[in-house]
Amino acid sequence: MKNEKIKVAFPHMGTIYVAWEMALKTVGVEAFIPPYTSKKTLSIGTKNSPEAICLPYKLILGNFIEAIEAGVDYVSMIASPGICRLGEYGRNIEQVLKELGYSTNYVELNLYDGIKGLIDYLIKISGKKNYFQICNAIYLAIRTVFALDELQSFLSYYRAREIKKGASEHAFLRAIQNIRKSTNIKELNSALKQGLKEISKVETDKQRDILHVDLTGEIYIVNDEFSNQNIERELGAMGVQVRRSLSVSSFLKDAIIPKMFKKGETHLERAYRLAKPYLMRDIGGDALECVSDVLYAKERNVDGLIHVCPFTCMPEIMSQNIFPKMREDTNLPILSLIMDEQTGRAGYITRLEAFVDLMRRKKIKSKINPKETNAINAK
Ligand code: SF4
Repeated sequence: MKNEKIKVAFPHMGTIYVAWEMALKTVGVEAFIPPYTSKKTLSIGTKNSPEAICLPYKLILGNFIEAIEAGVDYVSMIASPGICRLGEYGRNIEQVLKELGYSTNYVELNLYDGIKGLIDYLIKISGKKNYFQICNAIYLAIRTVFALDELQSFLSYYRAREIKKGASEHAFLRAIQNIRKSTNIKELNSALKQGLKEISKVETDKQRDILHVDLTGEIYIVNDEFSNQNIERELGAMGVQVRRSLSVSSFLKDAIIPKMFKKGETHLERAYRLAKPYLMRDIGGDALECVSDVLYAKERNVDGLIHVCPFTCMPEIMSQNIFPKMREDTNLPILSLIMDEQTGRAGYITRLEAFVDLMRRKKIKSKINPKETNAINAK
């Protein structure tokens, strides 16, 4: 591939586009950001997909078609030899794009080759073997992911307590725009610092009784606000602080970052340790992590756990079938939500409100009668 300003597009998944953009511009390639996923994207993707395929596939295909229609030269897809259908996504999408008559180039980023997969991808896309530049690009992209996750958890804290609705999200969005302007680690760090400072200026109600919820599920749905119908914003407005159990940075720690650079136990390591009584091995997707997240939430005494996954997601169907037993054993409120193109907003919000009510009542009850709650928990 020649080193010219080619336009490369990639699928959306929450704010991950910021890290893609950072890596591509560092190696001299123009990152083309497809229009953010919308109902139109979903309808384009659904129209050109098998009916029973999972939601992320449809949205990714929709992102690509919208990018191609806007004149992009390359579309980039993440590939991985996972146990579920993800391993087939790339080839299917490439084939569908050909059948639709698009001649746009297709290039894969094989994440399960770890850092090597990233290096190969950036060499291919930039047409240069400039290892110094490539290592810089990877480092900057990884640090960007961590910065975005830090901002996200800050946002969650302030959103649940803010007096003026939407104030912390405004500050968060401004911080993202500043992060996008960074060209090196120093600028990134200062944009992050500034962003955290701006969010923390948001006026909060110190008396509000906050609930704490862990959000787990299939990684795409957890991290993508379009497909989870902005669940964190909805919960924030109800006074719930959400912690993403499955974040992009935790995935990077398990799949990309070499062992010598990791501190402490990773999410996957914890999953193998905790999930054993309920699930003995990795069954694909994020099921093992999700099962262990219930026990991790219980350990930290949070008020509840919400599990989100796409309709027909095979690994998550398995984890959902394990949850009733876990609910019984732990007495932890668990809400499972299945998302697809048919998910209606009104019913969805009603379910969230009912769950928040349930957690509040349980919390009040445990304050009045802690012994009773402990007795249930000890069962
Ligand atoms: S984890 Fe589920 S949603 Fe994700 S690719 Fe696999 S089957 Fe599809």
